[in-house]
Amino acid sequence: MLFDGAVKAGAISSSAPDAKGLEIRGKIENVMIKMGKKAQEHQFGELGTGTERLNKIMAEASKCIKCYGCIENCPICYCVECSTKKPHLVRPGIIPPDFMFQMIRFAHIADSCINCGQCSELCPMDIPNSLYMHSQQVELEKMFGHKPGYDMTMPVLSYAEEMDERERLHATGSDMIYDNVFKE
Ligand code: SF4
Ligand code: SF4
Repeated sequence: MLFDGAVKAGAISSSAPDAKGLEIRGKIENVMIKMGKKAQEHQFGELGTGTERLNKIMAEASKCIKCYGCIENCPICYCVECSTKKPHLVRPGIIPPDFMFQMIRFAHIADSCINCGQCSELCPMDIPNSLYMHSQQVELEKMFGHKPGYDMTMPVLSYAEEMDERERLHATGSDMIYDNVFKE
């Protein structure tokens, strides 16, 4: 590893962390986690549930100009042939795109979204894509126990969606988000 190499080369040195510093850091982290959970509850609460939530997402999605920013910048998207570009699934040349455009993203990665925020941050229409995806991920994690970013096993949607693309990832190892992402 880079760090071990730098220590070995004498470029840097390391020592045990200061106990008091660790304690303070632990307290700060706890406060931040509590604040994050509170903000999450508030944001999910505003989304509503069931049909109400779906209607809100569809209304926001109707602003989409199909720039592909959310897809191209998502670290989880894995298909070489993006299904959102297949004319039998999403009609070409229509803005806003059919809601199927968003549904394809949900169906492929709702269980593996790491909530990095890129799809919201980079959306020119300010659609809170990451909130929508993350709200689904939280529910799927409760159902299936897959923890994105921690769990190196395949998420449940990988057994139902884009089998060919997943098999390609396994066969080639390229872009393998679950096996390679943390490798050197
Ligand atoms: S928040 Fe989730 S869906 Fe959005 S870019 Fe990050 S990993 Fe992809
Ligand atoms: S980044 Fe926003 S506008 Fe662009 S395709 Fe995604 S949702 Fe649509």
